[in-house]
Amino acid sequence: MARLTMKFGGTSVGSPEAIAQVVEIVKDHLAQDNELAVVLSAMSGVTDMLLESAAAAAGGERERYLAINAAIGAKHEAVIDELIAARSTRAAIRASLGALLGQHRELCEAVSILGEATPRISDALVSFGERLSSRVVTAVMADRGLPVQQFDSNRFIVTDNMFQNADPLWEETESRIVDGLLPVLGAGIAPIITGFIGATPDGTLTTLGRGGSDFSAAIFAACLACDELIIWTDVDGVMTTDPRLDQRARVLPYVSYQEIGELAFYGAKVLHPKTVQPIISRDIPLRVRNTFNPAHNGTLIGSRALASETVIKAVTGIKDVSMLTVSGPGMLGVPGIAGRTFLATANAGASILMISQASSEQSFCFTVVDPLAQHVKRAVEQELRREILHKDIDSVDVMSDIVIITVVGSGMRGTPGVAGRVFSLLGDHKVNVLAIAQGSSECSISFIVAEDDLERAVGELHNLALETVENDRVNGWASAP
Ligand code: ASP
Ligand code: MG
Repeated sequence: MARLTMKFGGTSVGSPEAIAQVVEIVKDHLAQDNELAVVLSAMSGVTDMLLESAAAAAGGERERYLAINAAIGAKHEAVIDELIAARSTRAAIRASLGALLGQHRELCEAVSILGEATPRISDALVSFGERLSSRVVTAVMADRGLPVQQFDSNRFIVTDNMFQNADPLWEETESRIVDGLLPVLGAGIAPIITGFIGATPDGTLTTLGRGGSDFSAAIFAACLACDELIIWTDVDGVMTTDPRLDQRARVLPYVSYQEIGELAFYGAKVLHPKTVQPIISRDIPLRVRNTFNPAHNGTLIGSRALASETVIKAVTGIKDVSMLTVSGPGMLGVPGIAGRTFLATANAGASILMISQASSEQSFCFTVVDPLAQHVKRAVEQELRREILHKDIDSVDVMSDIVIITVVGSGMRGTPGVAGRVFSLLGDHKVNVLAIAQGSSECSISFIVAEDDLERAVGELHNLALETVENDRVNGWASAP
């Protein structure tokens, strides 16, 4: 017997067929006498539809938000039609979904009167996705005789008031989860919980950011002291690279917590970057598995860093970024220019993906997402206007047709020559590197190349990751520690 938290993503609950699959998986795990907490995403597409309804309401487009409301209703209705047999269950779940959809419409009306959807109201609006999906899935499971009970996570996850990207207040959250859910598990009932949603201490709804259900699940797994967290998604696991960049991509059997952190931050879409944060200190293993291919073992993520000879595990590429370069002769030895630049960037609402400075101190560069690049350039020029006027700084330049490539592997730490190997490989294949940064965790190296070089660079570096997977297999590490 084990205690598990399982999370099913949007595609896993995205259609009646997918939900039928989820029911089988949950049933199997309950049959093995496990204690099980289940965290669900909204049905795929619904969060986007809800955000669209917020925009439509703010713009006073009544027909559009009503149409979205109806489409969301129909998506859930199809699940009831196909998967729920008992009449009384059908009637009860229809009534509860109808009430929620009614609240969504009312909120849209309110937004359209105000003419604005603030982050706070937007969170209330998107919360309907998980609230609907968790109810409908619970009803299906109950109809099949599984011992389940639905819960809204705003009862448990207490957060700060950073709407649309809230962070949990740990102590309060932990005590509420322990008090509220341990007795449920103890009674042999599987709680079916909304992902994504929290609430401030005074009860106002918040969300944990796009893709945040993974993070929710990790919070529950940590607070319930689970033996394992399983994230069920629509791919077999974490891959050596994006198969759209190189079709030889393979599933990695084992990845360390640190590696997955870097991978998620640098573009591997499989997990929300904050997912490992709650489980690292408790050393709870995390497994990424495919709802549509449950026979596959997936990827195990844990605390041990396996040192393979080749060290590099995975390669990611991030497109749609721009590089800003601040340069000029007057920067040498002048403290504060970088600090002011980054503060101006943050105040402009952009987060920085990568920073690099040459030791000559004549210039430094950093990257932001494309849509914000010109805005950030203006903000930085405004901040540095005196230095520009005095010609201490020449310019703030934007380069847009670039990509960030990151190679990841914990074995890099203390293994000399990895960077050398990476860059000589790129040199051999005539890829020009525009800027380089190595994280202090020494678990990744990121660099910038022209967008035209993306596939060639990833392809070459990916060879190193494929070698690692092969070595791990030969060394018997394929199924991990
Ligand atoms: N439904 C939310 C989103 O699409 C949260 C999640 O699925 O993780 O961002
Ligand atoms: Mg996701």
